[in-house]
Amino acid sequence: MNLVTARDIGKTYQTGEVEVQALKGLNFEIESAGFVSFVGPSGSGKTTLLNLIGCLDSPSGGSLSVVGTDVSTLGRTAGAAFRGRNIGFVFQDFNLIPVLNVFENVEYPLLMASSMGQSERKERVESLLDMVGMADQARKYPGQVSGGQKQRVAIARALVADPKLVLADEPTANLDHDTAYMVIDLMKSMKEKKKTTFIFSTHDPKIVGEAEIVYTLEDGALVNREDRRSNNG
Ligand code: ADP
Ligand code: MG
Repeated sequence: MNLVTARDIGKTYQTGEVEVQALKGLNFEIESAGFVSFVGPSGSGKTTLLNLIGCLDSPSGGSLSVVGTDVSTLGRTAGAAFRGRNIGFVFQDFNLIPVLNVFENVEYPLLMASSMGQSERKERVESLLDMVGMADQARKYPGQVSGGQKQRVAIARALVADPKLVLADEPTANLDHDTAYMVIDLMKSMKEKKKTTFIFSTHDPKIVGEAEIVYTLEDGALVNREDRRSNNG
C-alpha cells in the first residue's frame, strides 16, 4: 500500500480578488520509503503540499489518499482525528507550546488522540525523551532550552503516538550547521528504530543528501522525481 497517493491535486488560494494557484495538478505516490524530500524555491508550494498531506487544509481539486484513507473529502473533525492517529509534524519554528514543559509538550498528542492511561503515557513520553536525549530536561519550559533541543522535543512529540508518517516542514532552517546535522541524525535513527516515513520540505542539502526520494517543485508543479535507491548499486 502507498502511504500517499496524489491524483491531479490542485490548490488555489483566493485572497480578495487575487487567485493564487499554489499547486497545479500534482501526481505522485509515496511508498514506505524512509526519507522523502520535496525541494524547490520559496513559494513553489512545498508547505501547501505538506499541509494537504497532513489534513491541515483540503485540496481544491483532485484526490489525495494518505495511509489508505481518502483525505480530500474529510471534514475538519474527521481530519483532525485522522491526523492525530496517523501523522506527526515537525515545523521550522518548532511550534512547542510555551506554557507546557518539555514532558507535557511530548505528552500532548497522547492526551488528544488516545485513551491511554496515565502510567502508560508517562512511560511512553519518558521513553521518547530518552531516545531524543532530552530526558534530563523534562521539567524545563521551551523558553529555557536551545533551538536544537526544542527541535529534539518536537521530534519526540511528532513520534510519541507512533504515526506512520512524519511531515517535517524545513525542520533545519532555524538551526546552525552542527545542530542541523544532529537533528537529521536523530530523525534518521528514529526512522530506522520506528520504521517511520519522513516527508520533508527543505532547501537543506544535508537533508536532501539523506533522502531516498527527492521531488522537485517549481511554481506549483512537480518537475522532477529522483529515486536515490536505484543508484546505490
Ligand atoms: P513554499 O513552502 O514552497 O515556500 P508555499 O506553499 O508556502 O510555498 O506557497 C505557495 C504559493 O501559495 C505562494 O505563492 C504563496 O504566496 C501562496 N500561499 C501560501 N499560503 C497562502 C495562503 N494562506 N493564502 C494565500 N496564498 C498563499
Ligand atoms: Mg514553506
